[in-house]
Amino acid sequence: MRRRNLDTSSIADIAGNWKTPTRRTPEGGAASGSTTSTDTSPEKENEPQLFTAMTPVNVIVSLEMLTKTFVDVFLCPRCCQQKNNPKPSLQVECLQFGLATKTHISCKKCSFVHALTPLKQEKIRPGPKESSPTKRESNRFHDYSINYLGALLQQKLGMGLRGLEMIMAFLGIAPSYGSGDKWTRIFNTIGAVEEAVCNEVILANLQEEIRLTKQHAEIDLSNWVETNPDATAADKEAKHNSLLMMEGDKIGITIGADGAWQKRAIGRSSYNSTTGHNFGVGGYSNKIVSLQCYSKHCQICEEATKKQLEEPRQHRCPKNFDAARSAKSMEAQGAAQHCIEVATGPSGAYIAGVVTDDDSTTRSNLKHSLKETFNQRHGEGNWNSRTKRQLGWPVGPDNKLVKDTGKLPLNVPTPKFLHSDKGHRIRGVGYAAFDCKSEAKVKNDKGLMKVECLNIKRNMGYYVKTNQHLSDDDFNRRGMCVLQHLFNDHSLCDIKWCTHLKAQAEDDPVKKAKLDNQNKYWKVETAEEKKLHKKAEG
Ligand SMILES: [Zn+2]
Ligand SMILES: [Zn+2]
Ligand SMILES: [Zn+2]
Repeated sequence: MRRRNLDTSSIADIAGNWKTPTRRTPEGGAASGSTTSTDTSPEKENEPQLFTAMTPVNVIVSLEMLTKTFVDVFLCPRCCQQKNNPKPSLQVECLQFGLATKTHISCKKCSFVHALTPLKQEKIRPGPKESSPTKRESNRFHDYSINYLGALLQQKLGMGLRGLEMIMAFLGIAPSYGSGDKWTRIFNTIGAVEEAVCNEVILANLQEEIRLTKQHAEIDLSNWVETNPDATAADKEAKHNSLLMMEGDKIGITIGADGAWQKRAIGRSSYNSTTGHNFGVGGYSNKIVSLQCYSKHCQICEEATKKQLEEPRQHRCPKNFDAARSAKSMEAQGAAQHCIEVATGPSGAYIAGVVTDDDSTTRSNLKHSLKETFNQRHGEGNWNSRTKRQLGWPVGPDNKLVKDTGKLPLNVPTPKFLHSDKGHRIRGVGYAAFDCKSEAKVKNDKGLMKVECLNIKRNMGYYVKTNQHLSDDDFNRRGMCVLQHLFNDHSLCDIKWCTHLKAQAEDDPVKKAKLDNQNKYWKVETAEEKKLHKKAEG
């Protein structure tokens, strides 16, 4: 549609190299990289180009209308030159390769043919032309860019070919989707590229995180120097290294790590899916610096086992997790894997701090393996289960030898700090409150009601959020105000939010009564008092 001003003679020139129009930069003028632009006429350049970024790349045109226009209105350019009074003689033919449509406009009376070809993918297929027609057809399917976009769309929307079919059906587009094999090939190509780009981005993110860590250490160091003016150069060096949490020549970074796995609910039961992921997010940059994906299944491998083949055909195998293990254990393994990959990668950093949920497995996994430590210290075979206690195997509080839960190899420095994030802590308090509720139900006793559980959880959230400035001891001690306030004990409350304290500070008795209703608090009742109550009632 955008080339309607062109005269017919130049149509032949652009035949075969139809291209997606270049998007313009907001300042006007074609985006960098393009040399010529066919539709930059002088008048157009003077027009304000406020919304040029919105210029559509594709438009939906009714095929019937297009065909009718060509057949009824346009004349064959070749017949025009030869005859004085030519009649319309053009016909339109469409060929579909997936989402791409190649349109041929030909003349019924002469040999004129003009093809409208959609944007093609860069040639990724070396070698001579295919001889088999089905293979040729499949190759043409893989030539067009729009089919790759179709595959990306399926990924983005989280639905397969059937979902894409649905969208196209509603838009009145009837593509020839072809076999699943064609799309699998596209997915394989895209997948490999996505992985490569992802790794590049993650490495860049990691470098950004390292840069910011250094920057913050620099600021902290200059603050420290101000308060310690007598520090020697060696002191400064030591302080700087401790701020950077140096381990050998590696800089320590802090990440927040959390994982999730897909779930699917059918009826009343929900199932854990077979895939999971775990992200490590840099503390300063808030960017993903490490990413783990787990899958318990691989269709190709499973099919090969079913057919009793010795080895499955070569493929990009997603299976990297034991199918017998629980989805929950992916989380713990993910955190350990973050440490291993960052420390052994090319970035020159290691993970010195991990902020994660209160999962004890994750914590216990982020240690050196005791077995490997012993092998290194005493030599493999020089120690056994009988001698390891004497050799200094750690002992738990019950005087039993502790289990070897560490998952980190010896060349990976262990994280120095294991923190728990706010969100998970607050959720933990919520779980505890809800536990009281269900327990109370079982005993048929007065317990917490749902609204009170939510209240405790929400107030805990406010408390954590607004009291970050307190020291650890104070923070822990005063945290009880969330519960004690409910039981009319306001010794730890803050006048900023506690209505009882506010009422006490109020002189006007009317306002006072309005502010605080004494009956809403719970009374703490001891076991003896309960018995007395029962006696009195009985
Ligand atoms: Zn003709
Ligand atoms: Zn496989
Ligand atoms: Zn209070």
